[in-house]
Amino acid sequence: MSEALFSNLKCRECGRLYPKEAIHVCEYDFGPLEADYDYAKIKGRVSRKLIEGRPGSMWRYREFLPIDGEPTVGLQVGFTPLVKADRLAQALGVREVFVKNDTVNYPTLSFKDRVVSVALSRARELGFKIVACASTGNLANSVAANAASAGLKSYVLIPADLEQTKVLNSLVYGTNVVGIHGPYDQVNRLCSEIAGKYGWGFVNVNLRPYYAEGSKTMGYEIMEQLGWEIPTHTVVCMASGSLLTKIHKAYGEWIKTGLVEKKPFVIHGAQATGCNPISEAMKAGRDIIRPVPRPKTIAKSLAIGTPADGYYAVKVMQQTGGSAEDASDEEIVEGIRLLAETEGIFAETAGGVTVACAKKLIASGKIPAGDRVVLCITGHGLKTAEAVQESLPEPRCIHPSLREFDALVAGDGVGAGA
Ligand SMILES: *Cc1c(COP(=O)(O)O)cnc(C)c1O
Ligand SMILES: [Zn+2]
Repeated sequence: MSEALFSNLKCRECGRLYPKEAIHVCEYDFGPLEADYDYAKIKGRVSRKLIEGRPGSMWRYREFLPIDGEPTVGLQVGFTPLVKADRLAQALGVREVFVKNDTVNYPTLSFKDRVVSVALSRARELGFKIVACASTGNLANSVAANAASAGLKSYVLIPADLEQTKVLNSLVYGTNVVGIHGPYDQVNRLCSEIAGKYGWGFVNVNLRPYYAEGSKTMGYEIMEQLGWEIPTHTVVCMASGSLLTKIHKAYGEWIKTGLVEKKPFVIHGAQATGCNPISEAMKAGRDIIRPVPRPKTIAKSLAIGTPADGYYAVKVMQQTGGSAEDASDEEIVEGIRLLAETEGIFAETAGGVTVACAKKLIASGKIPAGDRVVLCITGHGLKTAEAVQESLPEPRCIHPSLREFDALVAGDGVGAGA
């Protein structure tokens, strides 16, 4: 890009401007720093036609992303399907459902590839040789894979008790996996100390302002794939709450730059009952988040007891007229199975949270039956297969005999030629 559209980092609390470096908190009030852009310039530069003419990846929205040059990591990430889910809509009792299907995001089958693509492209611009992260699983997978293909050395730090498949999905890329005995919050605190001492590029610590912006691309894709329109309702699962706030930012940016028409929209948040600090605050009408010291849920990817963006997520839900819900382990499994059985999409536990919470929001009328809703489904079910294993029947096994097969289908009430 010839002139900079990405201008500064800016404190979300006091608005002070900072240079575009590997920093993430304001020195005056400890507010989070966020990427700031010259929107007037962007408006003069982008159009629907320009974007439509570009390759199908998240980088078709590059004017809205915080790097200076061309992207160098994760060029194939994003532009996942937006699936019109009529059978799910019928099951949930609402007019129109779309599933934003990031279970098939490239390369590591979760929405985290979006944030990592931006963070590592920026890490390279800033000259980092070693990149790292604190992760509940998916971020580690994505940092490991994208760092491998970029030729960057990486360390990923995770709670030691994660799902085996998630751990394997980091190890295979040859990264350095460090398991920490303790919940995510303690992993994250340790990472802040390491970042200070070792000077590595932690994608969700000192590179967080860049990382977080990658989540906006899920919002841009939703609007473009709906025919350049903002959906009335969007349901987003929350860990730190960052994705929810960035989808809100994405919708606002496209109104501001004239890519979509201004209209009212509502953003709802979803958590697991076993780790629901944001949903709990929202339901109680508070914007102060009470930490959950010992999360206990099968939705491990969402198990952040002290969510960094929880306060801002609550603000977004309040300002847009949204609501929050949470789902028990049993409801999460039901949600996974409902999505799989109606739409043929196998989501991880976080997706089960989104579906289960959407079901409650529709049943309570918070999402009216006549409306259109987009569900953000953020990771693939094969990564958390153990969560559903016990709820599924064993396959029925027979000998290779037509007679035995006849008996089996007769029991199902299915005859030959049906
Ligand atoms: C990380 C993650 C989220 C949400 O993360 P935020 O910290 O709220 O942005 C949602 N779903 C999955 C599967 C994730 O891995
Ligand atoms: Zn500040």
